Amino acid sequence: MAPSLHPLIDNGLVKGQADFPGGKLRCHCSSNPIEITLGSNVAHNHACGCSKCWKPKGALFSVVAVIPKDKLQVTANGDKLKIVDTSATIQRYACKDCGVHLYGRIEKEHPFKGLDFVHVELSDQKGWQEPQFAAFVSSIIEQGFDPKGMDEVRSKLRSVGLETYDALSPPLMDAIATWTAQKAGVLPA
Ligand SMILES: [Zn+2]
Ligand SMILES: [Zn+2]
Repeated sequence: MAPSLHPLIDNGLVKGQADFPGGKLRCHCSSNPIEITLGSNVAHNHACGCSKCWKPKGALFSVVAVIPKDKLQVTANGDKLKIVDTSATIQRYACKDCGVHLYGRIEKEHPFKGLDFVHVELSDQKGWQEPQFAAFVSSIIEQGFDPKGMDEVRSKLRSVGLETYDALSPPLMDAIATWTAQKAGVLPA
């Protein structure tokens, strides 16, 4: 049986709606779930194979997107949030009861500062942007995935329309490099 990449990917992608206005995300607690309200659709939604992003049980990849941080509000049970790793670039806020990550925020100087990282599968609403690409694909090996299975994983991702990268996608890598060049003064800001 083919491994599960992610529930939002395994059976093909469901396209989002361009005018989707946002909605609510909730952790997996059956009582008093933490609730996050997003004031717009997300952007750059993608499958991520890194070891840090939250993944549903049994999935090889997370599905993670960004949203401007002023569009994100904690609207219920925020007292259950705790930062997973305070030394990480992205401060990931997880539910201390069920372990689900509600959002990640960057506080230090970084090209993606001002954007929060979220998982739209935590919403029961439809219309969120569908995954656009797969990032850090080779990183699943670092978490114990058999390298012999990588051709199958990459073929499966491509078969649903996701280009696969072992870092981020070229537009995002270009954005990071541009920010770095501007900081260094070799490109105009
Ligand atoms: Zn929870
Ligand atoms: Zn990741």
